[in-house]
Amino acid sequence: MAEHEHVRVAVIGSGFGGLGAAVRLRREGVTDFVVLERADSVGGTWRDNSYPGCACDVPSHLYSFSFAPHPDWPRTFSGQEHIRAYLEHVTDVFGLRPHLRLNSEVKLMTWDGERLRWVIETSSGTLTADLVVSATGPLSDPKVPDVPGLDTFPGKVFHSARWDHDYDLRGKRVAMIGTGASAIQIVPAIQPDVAKLTLFQRTPPWVMPRVDRAVSGAERLLHRTLPVTARLRRGLLWGIRELQVQAFTKRPNELGLVEQIAKRNMFRAIKDPGLRAKLIPSYRIGCKRILLSSTYYPALAQPNVDVVASGLREVRGSTVVAADGSEAEVDAIVFGTGFHVTDMPIADRVVGAEGRTLAEAWSESGMRSLRGATAAGFPNWMTIIGPNTGLGNSSMILMIESQLNYLADYVRQLDVLGGRAALDARPAAVDAWNDRVQKRMERTVWSTGGCNSWYLDENGVNTTVWPGTTTEFRGATRHVDLAEYDLLRAPAPVPAPTAEPEPASVAHPAHRPTKKKAEADA
Ligand code: NAP
Repeated sequence: MAEHEHVRVAVIGSGFGGLGAAVRLRREGVTDFVVLERADSVGGTWRDNSYPGCACDVPSHLYSFSFAPHPDWPRTFSGQEHIRAYLEHVTDVFGLRPHLRLNSEVKLMTWDGERLRWVIETSSGTLTADLVVSATGPLSDPKVPDVPGLDTFPGKVFHSARWDHDYDLRGKRVAMIGTGASAIQIVPAIQPDVAKLTLFQRTPPWVMPRVDRAVSGAERLLHRTLPVTARLRRGLLWGIRELQVQAFTKRPNELGLVEQIAKRNMFRAIKDPGLRAKLIPSYRIGCKRILLSSTYYPALAQPNVDVVASGLREVRGSTVVAADGSEAEVDAIVFGTGFHVTDMPIADRVVGAEGRTLAEAWSESGMRSLRGATAAGFPNWMTIIGPNTGLGNSSMILMIESQLNYLADYVRQLDVLGGRAALDARPAAVDAWNDRVQKRMERTVWSTGGCNSWYLDENGVNTTVWPGTTTEFRGATRHVDLAEYDLLRAPAPVPAPTAEPEPASVAHPAHRPTKKKAEADA
């Protein structure tokens, strides 16, 4: 096999997960790594989502790295451009640019069991790595429903995460498909400009008010001069959410009170009883992600907005047809229809020790991993924001940082093991972890709330959300437990031609030592 450039670690993706991994690796003293990025700049979802009104619904002082506090957040809830600029800033401050390989889309990763390394084919060439950290994110590949007749539409069509800024929506008749977190930000941003907005709502969301304001100069000065105040602010934001999560995971009935606040938020803006009836959800709040907006309902009450309480069924030329039969003539269709979350596209591009892709390995069970990170049969391959690491109510950065702790310990363990070694999650450990997660999932609002959300896969299994507090996840990912892994050793080097062949007892790469064996080896 041809020799390729070899690195110790290849990180895939340069969003919060990938950049966080890069910072963490450097802090662990690992400098022999690359960050492979398919686009031409860093930022991940915060680079790709530039739709009008795009902002984060988690407060900025919590939605940022704990190791890179930013005292100058301009608003309590930052806009996309500020978060993207923050990630560029992190890239510079932590000296990550030399590690970046932009315009390098990973096409295929194949485990080489002989040499215990990943062969990674990218759009800019092939390389090998001891360890792969996949930080491609759950919200990176847009999902557009297969709508009959869409190809007959003569107007403009795009997805919220691939906004066409060259297309001027002013004065146009626009169909917005979907009422998720993206759509409810887009609607109030474009409603004043468009001639007519037809909103296709398959399921109404619960929407709470968003108390957004500018962060005052005095606050910023205080955070700059007394950093402990920024830490306190972050701690408070975290603590409130940490307490709230119990209602989602253990006592969904308590959420009834929150529904009253959400209803009041709607009733303040929507006076028409017919429209109210369309907008009131019939499932428990929290079952789908709770959305935050103080401008969504006022926009829906405007005369140029028509809410169709039905999904998009087909397109006939410039006519969009809802499942309830209602029709509208439009110039543009904007899909706010979400992402490939439970069918993570990168899983099709990873070929593990048994010659199967990760997607094939998951085809029956759904996405599953050990502690949200590693999958059996895919040695030294780990995910940031892997299965069941998502949050329903707090900052994903907290979960990412927990996974970075796990990554750091994984790298340390490989160091301690020395020589050419790899860790492969034991199937029994993966099963035990997932059984625990799914058991806890049973009484959560995501299972009992009576909705169908993107947290659930096609079999109705929640493979997305973490059913606990961020503190519990932090505890579960503090250390790599070697007992949960098989240790793989590379075969001894091929002997010189004159020497006797090695005895057959040399470990085969596919050999899975028992736990005892792994510990003895260690
Ligand atoms: P989403 O939450 O998955 O919402 C997709 C929407 O499209 C849903 O309303 C869905 O309806 C609808 N839909 C799908 N197919 C349809 C069809 N054929 N006809 C009509 N409607 C259809 O996607 P998203 O809004 O892009 O948000 C995804 C995630 O991104 C969020 O949950 C959040 O985690 C993240 N996000 C975060 C922020 C933030 O502020 N931090 C902002 C935007 C996005 P059903 O409900 O009936 O399935």
